[in-house]
Amino acid sequence: MPTVVRVLVDLPRHSRLAAGALDYLEPPGSEPAVPLAPGTLVRVPLGKRQVCGLVWPHGEHGERSDGEAPPMDGLKAITEVLSALPPLSTAWLRLVAFAAAYYQRSPGEMALAVLPPELKDIDAAQLERRLRRLHKGLKAAAPEAAPEAAVADARPFRPDLSPEQAEVLRQLALGEPVTSLLHGVTGSGKTEIYLREAERVLAQGRQVLVLVPEINLTPQLEARFAQRFGASRLRALHSGLTPAQRLQNWLAAHLGHADLVLGTRLAIFAPLPRLGLIVVDEEHDPSYKQQEGARYSARDLAVYRGRLEGVPVLLGSATPSLETWLNAQPLGEAVQGRAQSRYRRLAMPSRIGAGALPAVKLLNLAEVVARHGRSVLYEMPIAPPLIERMKQCLARGEQSLVLLNRRGYAPVLHCTSCGWKSQCSQCSAWRVFHKIDRTLRCHHCGSVEPVMRSCPDCGDMDIQPLGRGTERLEEQLGALLPEARMARIDADTTRTRGSLEEQLAQVHDGHVDVLVGTQMVAKGHDFRRITLVIALNADAALFSQDFRAPERLFALLMQAAGRAGRDAEQAAASEMWVQTWHPSHPLYQALQRHDYVAFARSQLEERQIAGLPPYTHLALLRVEARDQASAQAFLQAATELAEGLDGTALSAGELLLYPPVPAQVQRVANVERVQMLLEASSRAVLQRFLSAWLDVLQAQRAALPKVLRWAVDVDPVSI
Ligand code: ADP
Ligand code: ZN
Ligand code: ZN
Repeated sequence: MPTVVRVLVDLPRHSRLAAGALDYLEPPGSEPAVPLAPGTLVRVPLGKRQVCGLVWPHGEHGERSDGEAPPMDGLKAITEVLSALPPLSTAWLRLVAFAAAYYQRSPGEMALAVLPPELKDIDAAQLERRLRRLHKGLKAAAPEAAPEAAVADARPFRPDLSPEQAEVLRQLALGEPVTSLLHGVTGSGKTEIYLREAERVLAQGRQVLVLVPEINLTPQLEARFAQRFGASRLRALHSGLTPAQRLQNWLAAHLGHADLVLGTRLAIFAPLPRLGLIVVDEEHDPSYKQQEGARYSARDLAVYRGRLEGVPVLLGSATPSLETWLNAQPLGEAVQGRAQSRYRRLAMPSRIGAGALPAVKLLNLAEVVARHGRSVLYEMPIAPPLIERMKQCLARGEQSLVLLNRRGYAPVLHCTSCGWKSQCSQCSAWRVFHKIDRTLRCHHCGSVEPVMRSCPDCGDMDIQPLGRGTERLEEQLGALLPEARMARIDADTTRTRGSLEEQLAQVHDGHVDVLVGTQMVAKGHDFRRITLVIALNADAALFSQDFRAPERLFALLMQAAGRAGRDAEQAAASEMWVQTWHPSHPLYQALQRHDYVAFARSQLEERQIAGLPPYTHLALLRVEARDQASAQAFLQAATELAEGLDGTALSAGELLLYPPVPAQVQRVANVERVQMLLEASSRAVLQRFLSAWLDVLQAQRAALPKVLRWAVDVDPVSI
């Protein structure tokens, strides 16, 4: 009798067919005594298509609720087994099962979303070719030949540890593998800690996974790992790779050939049979949260995976997320309602080489206006005192960095006679003026139109840019500092492959005096010659409706400050200036003292009083519809279904459902977006409720108002 195999396919949680997995018969002619191992990849018929599937364990996740043996008649057979690939490990399957359950997806949707895209499209023969190519590549790269070994004997430089680094490594060696927060200022030598820990783990013959927020922004980290351990042992995993490269690197990880895997959030799902260490660099970075489909947090999954596989997890940051910070409060120190520490906290408060952090200074815009008049703010891109600083910096032959988190020339065009504005016709947003190609671009739906010669409403020729983006800032600074060599780094100037690297090299090599950029430039670069950083338009985040905006601003400004004075002899003379209307704001006060701890304390107090994360746990139900009314009606019906759930947290007061509200950008590409916030006292309460609620929504789907899409976002990073 043929065996029934449980197979995950890419179907959403609320699909009619399967919340868990589908049943198939073993492929014709297979050995009956050897059942297909869970984790084996297969191709199966689904409707009229052939799709990739993953053999899933019986009886674990995706169990039939009736507990009955599945009926065999009518079942289709597996088309073929990708047997050249060893099955994915039990630990990997458990990671996927957990992620699916936690983020409220079907295991199939989760699993298939995190496998390399190319793997899902190939058949057994194609896969075998890919594997042959991989092995050929490995042979060619193997450093077996004797003469090469002699050359390779030049051992990579390994600095003597600073006392702080030595202490951190000593603590890391103690006790059971746990999750540790490495809280170290920029330039304190966190990367050296990652390298030493990696070295220790590699020496045991195990694999290391290093997660970074955006690989292209931090080429130096990759370079340092490659330099220390040899580029051939290192594989990258991120969405910037070609599908073929990504599959090759994934295979190298899965087959255990890659000793080090360095990647972005998707790499948290890299199969690593000998995993020994997970590093999450800049753990606070919001890009660890996937923003579409299965919205997982790679940082949080790293902590889970570490526990699951019994390996240490190292979370590094100068400005940890408040979630992580609260989890890392020392034992016994009952900080704001939590006495237990879940993470080990390791601190490196000093910069390497006794380098000081640059002085943070606040330029009070009210004083500038009192002195120069209000018009100076429109006429000058930067307040006059700071232009002076830039001139002095230039005269000393040093570099300056100007940070403005808004790309394009001007955020909006307007008509001076009738007041017309460059509204996007499909979104509730302005179209941004890009001068370089004279276009109006919507940054939400991507629509592009050429700039009109006259006002579309009244015909007046006088249409003017309002406000300032990086493109205009660069132009205006160029006019004020004609002798300075300017460069700009933002999403517009780095679109083509290699252009970011090229521009960074220009800055490094000293061919640039003034660098203008968005937050992209603040992230991880090691700019050695920058001695002046100026942050513009920072105040916007102080009064944002998103409660995490101040946390992000503080991290960004600390990181930006860290760009300055990386060379010890320059550090003392380095400065970061923030232009602000609110110089006495506690955030800026803490920033001036480089005092993350004080900032975190005040934010946590506010969060606790307001009942916000990390003290409560949130989820968003997001709905997209053709019109507001249907989206609202859907959420109304969903609320009623929630209230009808018996014995839930809702009645116990452990859970709050907020009324539906339009999303921050309400309409994108003619689709209306409405969301509803859920707040729970604990993760468990939230999980239990969401699971029950989504089951009901799924069961009642036919009766619910018609919408285009709906999905939950658990632990949303922006609301
Ligand atoms: P972080 O990652 O904390 O910002 P890095 O690891 O980049 O800091 O270290 C800052 C600089 O100090 C780098 O140039 C690094 O090579 C150097 N460095 C790190 N540790 C040491 C050490 N023990 N001795 C000398 N230089 C070091
Ligand atoms: Zn007009
Ligand atoms: Zn648009």
